[in-house]
Amino acid sequence: MSRGLPTAVETAAERPRLSSPPGRLIVLSGPSGVGKDTVLQELFRIAPSLHYSVSYTTRPPRPGEVDGVAYSFVDEAGFQALRDRHELLEYAWVHGHWYGTGEARVRASLERGEDIVLKIDVQGAAWIRPRVEGAIFIFLLPPSPEELRRRLTERATESADSLELRWENARKEMADQDQYDYRVVNDDVHRAAREILEIIERSRPRAADQ
Ligand code: 5GP
Repeated sequence: MSRGLPTAVETAAERPRLSSPPGRLIVLSGPSGVGKDTVLQELFRIAPSLHYSVSYTTRPPRPGEVDGVAYSFVDEAGFQALRDRHELLEYAWVHGHWYGTGEARVRASLERGEDIVLKIDVQGAAWIRPRVEGAIFIFLLPPSPEELRRRLTERATESADSLELRWENARKEMADQDQYDYRVVNDDVHRAAREILEIIERSRPRAADQ
């Protein structure tokens, strides 16, 4: 599976650094099932000026997912072409599929002074950390491991195998939470979204407020 693709390490090392762009890059990570999508939906409702970076993925669409909205769905050859053309800011192999962030749109947004949110895994965040100056790293946590397990089990879209894989990966992702600037507990979607917005507002450089 995906033998032709190199690891994220090789590509990320080649990427240029984005130094002090006028916009803010907000990186949100958290284990599968923690509720990143729901919290982001609420965040964009209360902060409509925020932008979202639609990732590329080789994962097949779930029912109701629209191409270009949830993700840009590509096959492995398409993903490899993006990687070969150096069009990805970062990418990683997550839960048995490739996921990556298109660089051009993120760069353009930041240079226009827009704040853009990336929902990416801990590997992608680790690649971006030394490469984008001033990025804000937020980790979304479940109220408890038991609650996360319950939420994952309830996800009707997952097969039994995929559930176990995601649970295993969730535990690994949780181990990286200390790498993040902020940790937000998703005990209540509205509260968590408000807390994330406060973090973004607080970390805005003074110059941008003037
Ligand atoms: P899902 O398939 O459930 O939508 O996402 C699975 C995981 O892939 C999530 O942890 C999500 O954060 C991560 N992910 C989504 N897009 C990207 C991306 O562009 N880059 C990286 N590194 N991870 C991503």
